[in-house]
Amino acid sequence: MKNKIDKIRNRIEQTALSCGRNPLTVRLVAVSKTVPPENVKAAVDAGVFIFGENYIQEAMNKIEEIGDSRLSWHFIGHLQSNKAKYVVRYFDLIHSVDTLKLAQEINRQAKKLNKTQNILVQVNIAMEVTKSGVATKDTISLIKDISKLENLSVKGLMTMPPFFNQPEKVRPYFKTLAQLKDQILEESIEHIEMKELSMGMTGDFEVAIEEGATLVRIGTAIFGDRS
Ligand SMILES: *Cc1c(COP(=O)(O)O)cnc(C)c1O
Repeated sequence: MKNKIDKIRNRIEQTALSCGRNPLTVRLVAVSKTVPPENVKAAVDAGVFIFGENYIQEAMNKIEEIGDSRLSWHFIGHLQSNKAKYVVRYFDLIHSVDTLKLAQEINRQAKKLNKTQNILVQVNIAMEVTKSGVATKDTISLIKDISKLENLSVKGLMTMPPFFNQPEKVRPYFKTLAQLKDQILEESIEHIEMKELSMGMTGDFEVAIEEGATLVRIGTAIFGDRS
C-alpha cells in the first residue's frame, strides 16, 4: 500500500512540476468505495488523509468504524435529496451537487446542524445521459441560485468525463471545466469561491493536473481493482 501511494504521490508531484505548478496545489483524494476499513487504515498509515466515498450507508459505517478525526471525508457519488441529512453529518466536501433542489436540501440540513457545508458543483460536460451533473450552459445560473443559500459554500467544480482508454481524449473535457471556472470567476458572484477543480482518476489524473486539477480522485491505483 505504502509503495503504491508513494508512486502516485511521485507522479502527482512530477506532473505538477513539469507544467510549472506547485505540487502542493494538487491534493490526493483516495477513493475508498467498496474498500474495507483495514485497507483505509493502511492508506492512513501511508500518509493519506482525504478519502472519497460514493455510497452513503457504506460510508457512514466505515467512517464510524475507523473513527479517526484527522481524516477528511469527501462525498463523490450521486446524491439523492433524501440522503442529504446523512451526508452533511459526515462529509467535509460534497463534490456532486448538480441541482438546485439538492442544494436547497443540503442547505436545510446544514442549517439544522449549524454548519456551513462546502460543496462543488458537478458538471456533465459531455451531456452523457448515464452521468450526473448540470449541463455546462446551465452551470452559471445554478451557481447564482446556490449563492443565495446561506449554509452552503461553493468551492469549485467537479467533472466525470466519458471513459476513454487514452487519457489524451479526455483532455478537452478537463480544459472545458477549467475554462468554465474562469468564466464563473469573471461573474464575481457573491460568496462563491472557484478554487477547486476536482477532475482526474486513475487513468487520466496526469492530464487533469496539466489542465489545472486541484483534487484528483484516485481509487484503483491505490486500492486495486474493485470487484
Ligand atoms: C470510483 C470513482 C473514482 C475513482 O476511479 P478510479 O478509476 O478507480 O481511480 C473517481 N471519481 C468518482 C466520482 C468515482 O465514482
